[in-house]
Amino acid sequence: MSTIDDLKSQLDARKITFDPPSGTSERLKKELLGENEGTKVTALLQELILKISKLNNIRISSIIRDEGFHGSGRAFDIGNEEIAGTLLPIVATDDKVQQFKIDEIIFDAGVAGESDRNKWNYDAGKKHNFDTATLEKHKNHIHFSVINS
Ligand SMILES: [Zn+2]
Repeated sequence: MSTIDDLKSQLDARKITFDPPSGTSERLKKELLGENEGTKVTALLQELILKISKLNNIRISSIIRDEGFHGSGRAFDIGNEEIAGTLLPIVATDDKVQQFKIDEIIFDAGVAGESDRNKWNYDAGKKHNFDTATLEKHKNHIHFSVINS
């Protein structure tokens, strides 16, 4: 099966859903499957989303927008950030970041009760401490991006 077929199966199984549930969800679905107009997601991003959805049910809150790697189809946001404490210890490791071709992970781990707010954060595939302003913008979603392919 192709990545697209696998993603469609995950959508059918409600292992991938979209936030908010109405209005933009159809647009996000098209973006995920590469059926939208304009900038499209990269194959690597689709593969990352598929792999993550096999670890945890995810609710996607944003894919394509004019900001950072979202503008080049390399980033997506998880809106059900309450999974951070179970998902990120598995994914935010040097091994998985390399294997999944992750560039950035940005989330304020303080939301998940961690004292180190940058506990799971990566930039350019390396552990990274983002500044307070960036952390403040990543309390209600988990941001992932993949490397340039
Ligand atoms: Zn983002």
